Amino acid sequence: MTNNDTVPVFDGHNDILLRLWRAGAEGAAKRFLEGEEAGHIDLPRARKGGFAGGLCAVYVPSERVLNEEGNYPTPSHAEAVEATVGMAGILARIEHASNGGVKICRSAADIRAAMAAGSFASVFHIEGAEAIGPDLDMLYLLHNAGLRTLGPVWSRPNIFAFGIPFRFPCGPDVGPGMSDLGKALIRACNELRIMVDLSHMNEAGFWEIAKISDAPLVASHSNAHALCAQSRNLTDKQIDAIGESGGLIGINFGASFFDPAGPDRDLDVDLSVLVRHVDHIVERIGIDHVALGSDFDGTKIPNAMKDVTDLPKLIAALRKAGYAGEDLDKICHGNWIRVLERTWGG
Ligand code: ZN
Repeated sequence: MTNNDTVPVFDGHNDILLRLWRAGAEGAAKRFLEGEEAGHIDLPRARKGGFAGGLCAVYVPSERVLNEEGNYPTPSHAEAVEATVGMAGILARIEHASNGGVKICRSAADIRAAMAAGSFASVFHIEGAEAIGPDLDMLYLLHNAGLRTLGPVWSRPNIFAFGIPFRFPCGPDVGPGMSDLGKALIRACNELRIMVDLSHMNEAGFWEIAKISDAPLVASHSNAHALCAQSRNLTDKQIDAIGESGGLIGINFGASFFDPAGPDRDLDVDLSVLVRHVDHIVERIGIDHVALGSDFDGTKIPNAMKDVTDLPKLIAALRKAGYAGEDLDKICHGNWIRVLERTWGG
């Protein structure tokens, strides 16, 4: 491998906070900062793999057993507050203990400065807004604590909207549109300049947000439905709307999200199959609207990448498909920083 292979990656989704929280908050910062042989990401491995940072999700877990309506159960407000505050606390503790090695970024300038200094550039993101009550006050509190991007739903319904359940083969048009509260949440996010993430949103909610929101449309970790008919992936019409809004799609490394076989995927799948999703999006809406959204620590990634240290293998696969220079920089970090800057303001 040449030095050219080390393009820094800033990506749209990881579940490191969930993994640390599940293993116990005690010592979580130390485990992340010093490294451990678990999961996909910790600081030493991120540095080794050229992983400069990304959106660190606070995901309120659901029991993975479908209820009578065929949905994953919605956590209670109290459970969600406990998980959200717990994971956000771990992130804050990591930053505090990192001696400058990790930065919670609140602006595009923060991201650029962290990357230039070799600090891990994390963005506090929420996936599933169950911790936010109907008065939305918690949104304002979390914004003060550094929250800058929010997915109103995970793949389950809540008081705001209907998250798309995982189905294959299936389109994203499952379930009703947003509630009035959901629309109020989108307006409040616009007011606070919090990015709204459309990954996990069903199709009805997607189009409502496209209409209401004044920000670029973003799906942080979804792929092209035309290539893998997973309900969480985006139809060509949705991809086109994201392009027209100036937004982006972060490619998900989860094999069941990119292998045409969906849940029957083979983890020995070649990384070129993942790169085809990049090609598809570039062909439809151009190089400015595709980025990465690994889902590290949240999904099963191909055997070709055991963890974040294997990112150079994906970069090599992108190069093999013809992406180089400025285009490769855009995919690996530039598009994310541009869209976040436009969403957040200067
Ligand atoms: Zn997700």
